[in-house]
Amino acid sequence: MTFSAMSATDISAASALEKGAGSFPCAGFQGTTLIDFPGCVASIIFTPGCNLRCPYCHNGALFTVEGDELMPHEALQEELAKRHGFIDGIVITGGEPSLHPGLVAFARGVKERYNLEIKLDTNGLDPAFVRAMLPHVDYVAIDLKTTPERYYLLGAQAGAGAIRERLRETGRLLAAAAARVEYRTTMYPPAVDGVDTLVAMLEFVPPSADFYLQRFIARNAWSEEARKNASFEPAQLEAMALELRRRTGRDRIYVRTYS
Ligand code: SF4
Repeated sequence: MTFSAMSATDISAASALEKGAGSFPCAGFQGTTLIDFPGCVASIIFTPGCNLRCPYCHNGALFTVEGDELMPHEALQEELAKRHGFIDGIVITGGEPSLHPGLVAFARGVKERYNLEIKLDTNGLDPAFVRAMLPHVDYVAIDLKTTPERYYLLGAQAGAGAIRERLRETGRLLAAAAARVEYRTTMYPPAVDGVDTLVAMLEFVPPSADFYLQRFIARNAWSEEARKNASFEPAQLEAMALELRRRTGRDRIYVRTYS
């Protein structure tokens, strides 16, 4: 759609976007991905900061991006405008996007202006943010780390009780959502040591959601401690997924091995 063909609502959304409505710090932009948004050719927007410090995180460089390192709002808008008609969607990821409430207005504006599909990646620890984003997103991917009692291993400041309540609330919201939903767990052995832990974690995963066991890739971890850990082999993950399906009766459980 050209700018001249836009409706009054489109123009208002475009204008609001150009004026910086829905401002948030953008730590990076990737023009095209074929693998991060199932079924979509998408661009990726990276946000800075995180409320966890997972030792295996691949995006440790995003923890402290600020000031001149951030991408100006106008440059981000130009990148999106350039790709209009080529990409189907955008992925909003981090870091942890829920630290940036301006993303709600941004997502609404992008959807209205470009009619793009939007995927949100989040750790699900801020259900209020998930609730606010849901009307504007088409796909939600929740990084479920481990059982609440072990979130301290990922640097959580909140206690197990608070983590449990937040994950339950996020699960309730997503169970009722129109968006496609996946949960995924990086199989980092200190945090997820086997099927018993996975069975306990499934309490938080709506039965309608896909659940992926993702291979932990040590070489990409920001923490030296994590890089010393061995990964489960793909065959071990497949055996765990099989056992998990058998024990829980759920069939939407898969293994993802790409890094
Ligand atoms: S929640 Fe995600 S971005 Fe944050 S530290 Fe963990 S893996 Fe990295």
